[in-house]
Amino acid sequence: MRAVVNTDDGIRTVEVDEPDGTGVRISVAAAGICGTDVQLAGAGLTGFVYGHEFAGVDDAGRAYFVEPTLYGGECEECRGGNPQRCTEPGHGNLGVFSDGGMAETIVVPEYTLLELPPRLDVNDACLIEPGAVAWHAVRRAQVRPGERLLVVGGATIGLLAAAAAEHQGIDTDVEARHEHQLAAAERLGFGRPSGHYDVVIDAAGSETSLARSADAARPGGRIVSLGVYLDMMPVPGSAVSQVKELTYVNSIAYGRYDGVREVEQAASLLAGEPELARTLITHRYPIDDAREAFRVAADREAGAIKVVIEP
Ligand SMILES: [Zn+2]
Repeated sequence: MRAVVNTDDGIRTVEVDEPDGTGVRISVAAAGICGTDVQLAGAGLTGFVYGHEFAGVDDAGRAYFVEPTLYGGECEECRGGNPQRCTEPGHGNLGVFSDGGMAETIVVPEYTLLELPPRLDVNDACLIEPGAVAWHAVRRAQVRPGERLLVVGGATIGLLAAAAAEHQGIDTDVEARHEHQLAAAERLGFGRPSGHYDVVIDAAGSETSLARSADAARPGGRIVSLGVYLDMMPVPGSAVSQVKELTYVNSIAYGRYDGVREVEQAASLLAGEPELARTLITHRYPIDDAREAFRVAADREAGAIKVVIEP
């Protein structure tokens, strides 16, 4: 079967053995390219099939999203509803160091499966993954009624964070850098930035976005770091962060909240608001064009928000 791997020559679609082992065989319908995939490929990570945002059908034709977190289920973090912080051997993520969903088929542990809500198309369901990342960040922010929220960054996760917040009744604005992101934010009904905010979610993950987040926060405000910093996090110093006594909160992946899987919350958000998938998925490519798909996903000027590979 065909699968997407990184090589010394960059992203390639190659022929690999059919997956075996115990678990449920899923024929992948669509897999999204995440900014992290682009970062990891650029950093030269090889040796596994890419793709941690994907959904497909089992041999009986039932549609599932695959929650890519691999965990043991026995440690304190797992038992506390935080499998994303699992400390047991074998914890990790499908598509990051272990084979993921940019392939025609994958065999996954049964516990990773999430049945799709009826109104969510399996070819759009890869958005559940970034949707859950976004949902988790809004929860980590612990926004109280009447507080104002700003999301800095108009890519997939930023727009989904704004959607998750609005869904929870929080007044949310979005600051985006590129024209097509501003157009998407407007189409989804989010306001432009004005004044200062109780909570700012940094969904861009750059030195500039962290500085902008600190500037936009009110004194005593909170910043949620959602963008990925592979190296150090360049948090602004005393003139802003300390003088304002800002609180920094980290947020990564997703888990359970009050016993409910956050991927399930994200699935119902997407099913209830079909405009999200229509606006966010800007490009779809067959698996043989994965190299071009990654190129478009990496080029912020190309007008892409979410680029999807359909095996
Ligand atoms: Zn665990």
